[in-house]
Amino acid sequence: MALKLYDSLAREQRPVAASHADGVFRFYNCGPTVYAPAHIGNFRTFVINDLIRRMLELQFGSAKVKHVRNLTDVDDKTIRRSREEKRPLAEVTKHWTDKFHADCGALNCLAPHVEPTATGHIREQVDMIDVLLQKGNAYRAADGSVYFKVNSFPNYGRLSRVKERELQLGSALVGKSQAADADEKEDGTDFALWKAWKPEDGDVKWDGPTGAGAGRPGWHIECSAMSKKHLGETIDLHTGAVDLLFPHHENEIAQSECCNGETFSRHWYHNEHLLVDGKKMSKSLGNLYTLDDIVAKGSSPTALRYALLSGHPRKQLNFTLDSLHSAEKALTTLRAYRAALPASGGSPDTFAPFFAALEDDLNTPAALGALFTIVNRGATGVDLPNFDRAIFALGLKLDTAAPEKAEAPAEVKALADKRWAAKQAKDFAAADALRKEIAAAGWSMLDRKDGYSLEKAKG
Ligand SMILES: [Zn+2]
Repeated sequence: MALKLYDSLAREQRPVAASHADGVFRFYNCGPTVYAPAHIGNFRTFVINDLIRRMLELQFGSAKVKHVRNLTDVDDKTIRRSREEKRPLAEVTKHWTDKFHADCGALNCLAPHVEPTATGHIREQVDMIDVLLQKGNAYRAADGSVYFKVNSFPNYGRLSRVKERELQLGSALVGKSQAADADEKEDGTDFALWKAWKPEDGDVKWDGPTGAGAGRPGWHIECSAMSKKHLGETIDLHTGAVDLLFPHHENEIAQSECCNGETFSRHWYHNEHLLVDGKKMSKSLGNLYTLDDIVAKGSSPTALRYALLSGHPRKQLNFTLDSLHSAEKALTTLRAYRAALPASGGSPDTFAPFFAALEDDLNTPAALGALFTIVNRGATGVDLPNFDRAIFALGLKLDTAAPEKAEAPAEVKALADKRWAAKQAKDFAAADALRKEIAAAGWSMLDRKDGYSLEKAKG
C-alpha cells in the first residue's frame, strides 16, 4: 500500500508519509459548524475523508493513524441560532453535534480519534494568540479585538496563490474585505484572531489574550490550536473541501508557522464540491438535501455513500436522485456476490487493480470499475476476507445479516401518528388514506395492540 494524494501546496501528486519518529500518521480534517444539519455536499467531504482514513489504516495499521476532526461550536452562525431559538449556545451545538454523529454513523464513517471543540480549547487559542502578539505577527485593535498581520508572514498566499489572484482580479479581494468590515484592521487582508465581545453575543465570552478585551476566538485559530494540542506542531496531512483553501487554510498556515516556527502540514488535500442536478446547492433552489431527505425518498444511507464515492473526489460530482437508484442496484449486486463467496482460498492479488486505483489519488470511479470487473467475471480466486478488505476501504455496509435500520423521518412519523389516532377513533377511511400516504413516502406501518412500528418498504 502506498497512497498518493494530490498535494494542493506542492501542486503535484505525492505519496503520503508519516514524518514522526513514532511512526504515527497525523491526520487533521476540518469538521462541521454545528448549528444545522449537515447537507449531502458536506457529507461528500466527510465520506471522502473517511475513505482517506481507511486507506491510511490499511497502509500504516489502525494503531498508527491518529485522526483529529474539530467541531466549530462558537461562531457567528451558532450564536445567531442560539439567539433566534432563545436557547443556550451549548444546548444548540450539542443538539446538532448529536445529529451530525448519528448521520456519520448511518453513513458508516469511522469516528475520529479526537473530536475537539472550539469552546473546549479557549486557553490553547488564547495562548497561541499571545505568542503571535509577542512575536509581532498580531496586533490589538482599539475595540479589544486582535488581528493577524498578514504582511508579517512572507509565505502568505503560497497555498491559494491569493497574491497572484489578487493581481488578476485587480485587488478585488482586498477591496471586498475592506468594504465588508468597518473595524479596526490596519490592512484589509488582516484577519481576526480574537473578536471583542458585542452585545449580540449575549453571555458568550471568555477572557481574552493579554491586553485584549473579553470576547471569543476567530474561526481560523481554532484549527491551528487544536491540531497543535492533539497532533503536535507538524502534521502529516491536512484536508478539507476546496472552499476552505482560502482563506481558512491559508490563515491556519500563517498562524501556526508564525507561532511555532515549524512547517504546519506536510501535505494538503482538497476535495471538490457536490452539485445537485447540475446546480450549486442552495436553500432557494430547494436542492439542499440532508441525509433525512434522502432516507425519506426511500434510499439507504449506504446508497448515498456509494453515490458520493462514485465520482472522482477532486472533480465536481453531479448528484441526481437517479444516481441513488443506480447505487441501490450496485449494492444489491455486491450483496448477492458476497453471499456466495467462499471463506478462504482466494488471492489478494485479485484486488490489486482496485487498490492501485484508490492509491492513485483516490480514483474511485476506476476502483469501482475494477471491483465490478471482478464481480461480473464470477467468484474464481476471490474469497470473503479479500473481498471484505476492498469493501472496508469503501466503507460500504454489505452485511445482509444485519439489515440497515433506518429511522423514519419526522414527516412520516407525523403521518403515522395521525393514522394511529384515526384508527383509534374508528375513522377507517382516513386511516386508509394515511396508510397510502405513508406507503408513497416509502414506508410501511405495522399495527400492534398497543402501538405501531414503521419499516422501510422493500423494493
Ligand atoms: Zn479548519
